[in-house]
Amino acid sequence: MFFKKLNNAGLWEKIQKLRELIKAEKYFRRRICWNSTCKKDLNIYDFLSDNMNFTPEYILKLWQNPILEFHCCECFKYLKIHELKKIEKEKSTRECLFCKTPMDLYKFSKLNDYLKIHEIKSLWLNSDYKLFCDNLCQRKYYKTYYDFLKKKKRKKQTLIKEKLESEIDNLQEKLSETPKNFEEKLKKESKPSV
Ligand SMILES: [Zn+2]
Ligand SMILES: [Zn+2]
Repeated sequence: MFFKKLNNAGLWEKIQKLRELIKAEKYFRRRICWNSTCKKDLNIYDFLSDNMNFTPEYILKLWQNPILEFHCCECFKYLKIHELKKIEKEKSTRECLFCKTPMDLYKFSKLNDYLKIHEIKSLWLNSDYKLFCDNLCQRKYYKTYYDFLKKKKRKKQTLIKEKLESEIDNLQEKLSETPKNFEEKLKKESKPSV
């Protein structure tokens, strides 16, 4: 909730800033959806709120750029689905690393809505990328993983400790052998066996 509030405050500030920048602009472009069957009027403030990672200055620069074309939300979604279908052909499902539940590309893309399509593609097709159903599975996975590492470390330490202790025991045993004992032992050992 806190994050949402912060984001909204950030958006409000950006809208104010963008408004000032537009006022200062000599010629402000009217934009329509690039899809020829749609041609819906586009709103720069929608464009801003969909791209909160950009500054108002950058948003305006993109908007005013004559070589760029924009799509409305609906057409963009359609395009995205079209792109997803292409990726799906390469790999249709993966599974959660923790619970092994299969996940399809559409669910993955919904979970990672903030990613650009090429980012979705590279993550989805990268088999080293750790994929989870949700944060819970992710947390459980890393908890198990770190517990495993801890146990492994502890086991190694115990082994080293045991080895050291047995070496010390050996040494102490050797040291405790008096010369006399040692001589007897030598004699015993040198007697020819019958
Ligand atoms: Zn459109
Ligand atoms: Zn899972």
